[in-house]
Amino acid sequence: MADLETRLTNVVGDRTAKVLSTTFDMKEVGDLLRHYPRRYVVRGELTDISTLQEGDEVTILAQVHSASNRRLQGRKGSIFEVIVTDGSAKLSLTFFNQAWREKELRVGRQGLFAGKVGLFNGKRQLAHPDYEMIPDGSDVDSAVEDFAGKYLPVYPASSKLPSWKIAQCMELVIDSLDELQDFLPEKIREKHSYPTLQQALIQLHKPMDLDSAELSRERLTFDEAFLLQLLLVLRRNELRKLHTQSRAPKPGGILDAFDASLPFQLTGGQIEVCKEIESDLAQSHPMHRLLQGEVGSGKTIVALRAMLSVIDSGGQAALLAPTEVLAAQHIRTFEKLLGTLGHGGMLGAPEHSTQVTLITGSQSAAARKEALALAASGDAGIVIGTHALLGEKVEFKDLGLIVVDEQHRFGVEQRDALKEKAEKPPHLLVMTATPIPRTVAMTVFGDLDVSTLRELPLGRQPITTHVVPVLEKPAFVERAWSRIKEEVAMGHQAYIVAPRISATSNEDADMDFLFGETTSDLASVEELAPKLHGGPLAGLRVAMLHGRMGTDDKDSTMKAFAAGEIDVLVSTTVIEVGVDVANATVMVIMDADRFGVSQLHQLRGRVGRGTSPGLCLLVSSAPIESPARMRLEAVASTLDGFELSRIDLDQRREGDVLGSNQSGTRSHLRLLRVLRDEDLIESARNDASELVDTDSDLSAYPLLQAELKVLQADEAVDYLDKG
Ligand code: ADP
Ligand code: MG
Repeated sequence: MADLETRLTNVVGDRTAKVLSTTFDMKEVGDLLRHYPRRYVVRGELTDISTLQEGDEVTILAQVHSASNRRLQGRKGSIFEVIVTDGSAKLSLTFFNQAWREKELRVGRQGLFAGKVGLFNGKRQLAHPDYEMIPDGSDVDSAVEDFAGKYLPVYPASSKLPSWKIAQCMELVIDSLDELQDFLPEKIREKHSYPTLQQALIQLHKPMDLDSAELSRERLTFDEAFLLQLLLVLRRNELRKLHTQSRAPKPGGILDAFDASLPFQLTGGQIEVCKEIESDLAQSHPMHRLLQGEVGSGKTIVALRAMLSVIDSGGQAALLAPTEVLAAQHIRTFEKLLGTLGHGGMLGAPEHSTQVTLITGSQSAAARKEALALAASGDAGIVIGTHALLGEKVEFKDLGLIVVDEQHRFGVEQRDALKEKAEKPPHLLVMTATPIPRTVAMTVFGDLDVSTLRELPLGRQPITTHVVPVLEKPAFVERAWSRIKEEVAMGHQAYIVAPRISATSNEDADMDFLFGETTSDLASVEELAPKLHGGPLAGLRVAMLHGRMGTDDKDSTMKAFAAGEIDVLVSTTVIEVGVDVANATVMVIMDADRFGVSQLHQLRGRVGRGTSPGLCLLVSSAPIESPARMRLEAVASTLDGFELSRIDLDQRREGDVLGSNQSGTRSHLRLLRVLRDEDLIESARNDASELVDTDSDLSAYPLLQAELKVLQADEAVDYLDKG
């Protein structure tokens, strides 16, 4: 008899075990049982294609009727189209640049095809469907004969290990399975009327009916959410036990002086979030808070107020920025906002004043020495820097607060390195402009409290976004350049963003996975700038900005742009985060389909920051029906960052969402989808808290403890430490 740890070799034989191991990295019975079916099809029935509706998620059994490959007009690439049939109706399958599939999708063959039914030119189609061909002449029915009764599980499979082969292995494993112990506390299992672990696994692989398969899937999904939340609740409790210095604001100090000097009123949202932070800082355990808000929602001031409150209590604050451009911009912003309050140590500075200093990797030795001294003596209340802040030589007198800007660029170890520079655990504020839905925040940042700024400060201008389709309307590209000229003529400035630095570089084209095509014809900064300057934008002051330029160069370019000495900045995504030039009103993004939804949203947030409305033009040669094009249309259709982040998350694999690039079979998140499973995550959160409340170290639940240990050891979950 087998249990979850039994080697697969002992159950399915050496040869099959070897294939399972090399294809899916499965070693033990448990690994195989955790290889869940994607969906089920009813065996032996070709799907009635005529009943398929647009938008349906379907798996169909059908036969290849015809196949053809055609080149795309006006750009590289081709569309491979396959027509499948159930005998009466037909359905079109399309693949971009994948003519090689011809070999598999031969006329007359049967296969399982899965995807979402779309409509193109009035014709129903599946774009890039998953599929699995039934081998010619193979005795498929008898291979699966004994298995799964009516419902045929469809597994993630490979050519070496097709779905029905996996089903056969599953059968062997299930037949030899001993009674499994269930780690989910019975109380919780009964509360939700879930099957036992054993029942759930069997019903998922060999369903009697679709309802019990569904309930089993829910139970196993709940397991994932529950273990994750349990871990987070336990960590949160650990954090609560840490002792640190309270940094309650002191009246009559620099914070009050700053508030009195602010030229505008804080928005309602800002006031509320500031209160939350103040009360966190007053606690004797460290704050762990995520501050999220759209680009331009005014996070910087909220963060600055938190810093000033720490300075009032005698401490210092560090601001960790992802790039030198941003660090430099932050220090300019802070100096401007603080005015004379930032002139600490200078003659005539007000009573409560401090200094702001900058530490970056590329500054001169002299500048660095001075900055290090200011940080170490405590004279600098605010120390801004890039990863250089983490360097060994950087010391603080009393580091009380760490603010991290744009969390996704920093790893756990980096933040920990900074925490170690404080005597007592510092308070932590993480700022992000990529809004994440509540469930994602709960899952990814379970041990962070979340504050959200939803409204934009008064006076922010709306941004209009249009897609410029190169294939259908090539003349519109010219129109984009004229729009830039019009804006410049009115005294405004423009950004042009390209996915690459030079014709031969690849660094910024990170969306290749969408089409798997080469990037050779993508726009690049170094080609575009001279071309525009010598052509459509002749007479305008055009400059380049990208990551390969030296820091001084970058800095002086940004300064010149901010000062209005440059009309058009042609750049890579280095301007994505935080860059704030109010006079810039138009942005043209080249090959916009190369960027993610959230990234595009971030980018366009650079315009419309002043008193004039912003315009963003998304130039793309993505064909009209392609997923890439739909993403662009989505970005153009709404300014709601939360809505867009849902779209973004929907399109990415969960592993990417959670920041774990490890999506191997050992990953503990196979079923859980943070968006779809919002309710489940919430109820798992409640169950986890309740359980920990009654048994703070889970001493009565050894099986659960063991399960948590496995989860902790799993390197795929280091995102949990993101806090
Ligand atoms: P974020 O960091 O969230 O992108 P910023 O803090 O940079 O946003 O704010 C964007 C702009 O709005 C800045 O120029 C800032 O000075 C201004 N701003 C912030 N809060 C307010 C407010 N309450 N009223 C008016 N302007 C504000
Ligand atoms: Mg900002």
